[in-house]
Amino acid sequence: MEDCIFCKIINGDIPSEKVYEDDKIYCFKDINPVTPVHVLIVPKKHIPSLNETMDEDKEILGYILFKAKDIAKILKIEDNGYRIVTNCGENAGQSVFHIHFHLLGGKTLLWP
Ligand code: 5GP
Ligand code: ZN
Repeated sequence: MEDCIFCKIINGDIPSEKVYEDDKIYCFKDINPVTPVHVLIVPKKHIPSLNETMDEDKEILGYILFKAKDIAKILKIEDNGYRIVTNCGENAGQSVFHIHFHLLGGKTLLWP
């Protein structure tokens, strides 16, 4: 997707602070962190949001959650705990329409 900021980050056209990468996902620090540790886990496949996921995307959705603990370990927040959030659509405040999962930690998190 030519106009997608996260596709450009994945391709290296826009710089980012990479935390983890493999053939399926790219993880980098959020430019505007809302917690002491705040990274985004993004599939390399361009999918706008949860609403557009298809049968073939079940694997990557599961893979992202499965890899979260490894990324939490890299960030040294696996013991104290962390939260995964994906915003879908306007009411959730989604601002980038390439699906991404916020990994938040580094302090006690309020709910909601
Ligand atoms: P959303 O609001 O869509 O759930 O989350 C989008 C996130 O992407 C926001 O937390 C925002 O700070 C982050 N973001 C937007 N543009 C950039 C960018 O160019 N670089 C990085 N590292 N993060 C970005
Ligand atoms: Zn994209």
